[in-house]
Amino acid sequence: MNKIGRREFIGSSAAILILNTTLSSFSEAPSIMANAATPTPFSLPALPYAPEALEPTVDTETMKIHHGKHHQAYVDKLNEQAAKLPELGDMPLERMMAQISKYPAPVRNNGGGHYNHSMFWNIMAPAGNAGTPSKSLSDRITSDLGGMDAMKEALNNAALTRFGSGWGWLILNSDKKLAISSTPNQDNPLMDVAEMKGTPIIGIDVWEHAYYLKYQNKRADYLKNWWTVANWTAINERFEKASK
Ligand code: MN
Repeated sequence: MNKIGRREFIGSSAAILILNTTLSSFSEAPSIMANAATPTPFSLPALPYAPEALEPTVDTETMKIHHGKHHQAYVDKLNEQAAKLPELGDMPLERMMAQISKYPAPVRNNGGGHYNHSMFWNIMAPAGNAGTPSKSLSDRITSDLGGMDAMKEALNNAALTRFGSGWGWLILNSDKKLAISSTPNQDNPLMDVAEMKGTPIIGIDVWEHAYYLKYQNKRADYLKNWWTVANWTAINERFEKASK
């Protein structure tokens, strides 16, 4: 029984059921959890392409460090928080974001970092292999934001004028309207603390670690080029899911 790790323990409600029914009493459960190995419920997702695949828009070295060092660090530090707050390992990231104000700052920073980067890798793809905007998304971008060019300009401007580190966003808000926003640090529009809330459809990382090796201080050039690796197939899917 003691060999059952935290990961298996939280990973399956069936396992919990079996565990609980084999305990002499339910009151023993907390001591088993406290004695379990350090929980690691969060893990770094593999990049969906090779690190050089987004050249020349995103250089290989930036991609390797961004994914393998920065995102890994958010995952490791979020696991450290989950060791202290086991409930974190047992909830979808979206639910964690929605109640982020009740948790300590490291959960906000690293939980946000893990959510944001997991999304970010998936909404990029090698240029020429990234699909096109669906008709339903294009129509909504036109009706809500004045067209594709206007949307890109507004999102780039929000990302460009975000002082310091943060993210620019295209979101679907609670009125099911597309809107543009930006957030500081690793905050995102799913968080209960966000000024403008909604479901992220596109999020562009404008921390210097996302672009500085290639673009140095030219954040605007990075943003302009970013659209050449936008993965419209993934973005269309995010929009469809959020629209339901
Ligand atoms: Mn980043």
